[in-house]
Amino acid sequence: MTNTKTVTAGVLLIGDELLSGRTQDTNLGVIAKFLVPLGVQISEARILADNADVIRDSVKAFSERYDYVFTTGGIGPTHDDITADCIAAAFDLGISEREDALAILRPLYEGRDFNAARRRMARIPDGASLIDNPVSKAPGFQTRNVFTLAGVPQIMKGMLPDIAHRIKGGPKVYQITVSTSEIGEGDAAEGLAQIEANHAGVSIGSYPWFNNDLRGINFVARGQDESVLEDVRIELEAFVKTLLSGYLR
Ligand code: AMP
Ligand code: MG
Repeated sequence: MTNTKTVTAGVLLIGDELLSGRTQDTNLGVIAKFLVPLGVQISEARILADNADVIRDSVKAFSERYDYVFTTGGIGPTHDDITADCIAAAFDLGISEREDALAILRPLYEGRDFNAARRRMARIPDGASLIDNPVSKAPGFQTRNVFTLAGVPQIMKGMLPDIAHRIKGGPKVYQITVSTSEIGEGDAAEGLAQIEANHAGVSIGSYPWFNNDLRGINFVARGQDESVLEDVRIELEAFVKTLLSGYLR
């Protein structure tokens, strides 16, 4: 029997710098693209300050609401890296410098001071399993349905391959795009809603763009049935032609 239940994820992007505008988030898009082929749909993402109560409460809420949760940021060696403690608090777990994580980090600092700050990256909640970090070694970890990843985009991306095998996805969502220029959304709105209504299980988004003097819209249809999406593509293309011929009259 094929699994038809939608499998969901929530993403928590952690860091004061994301909220102040200093750093532009890029992790959400990378996680979203990673999850599409696995059949997991992101339902919600939040950007959180480095605030222990906020992080703990959000982890708890997301863990209950979504099948999988991803956190990025706050697992480095400095005082503001508090994510591991917040995950432990969210699930009432103990937390300590774990020998398996220390064993990964120790060789990196041979001949240098493996000090408390560096050992901080080995603080892992009890029972969590480590996530491999092929880029800089300090591991991420999985606690129940929550994957805790680094904030640095290259390191975060490097951890994803060790997550794919832990995820049981649902049906994949496919999408098609029909692009057009010189059409106003106001003229398209009614017909577009009708095309969506005619196809159960398909959602259509209208994404306008402006480029100097030129304007246009990308119509993006999403759904689980590829053949239905092909029908929608044909209808959208015919719809665009009709609208354009109306402008030319
Ligand atoms: P952290 O793991 O929170 O100490 O973050 C380490 C570095 O990664 C910092 O330079 C952050 O600005 C950057 N970073 C953290 N989260 C993100 C994100 N969501 N998108 C892009 N860069 C990020
Ligand atoms: Mg941080």
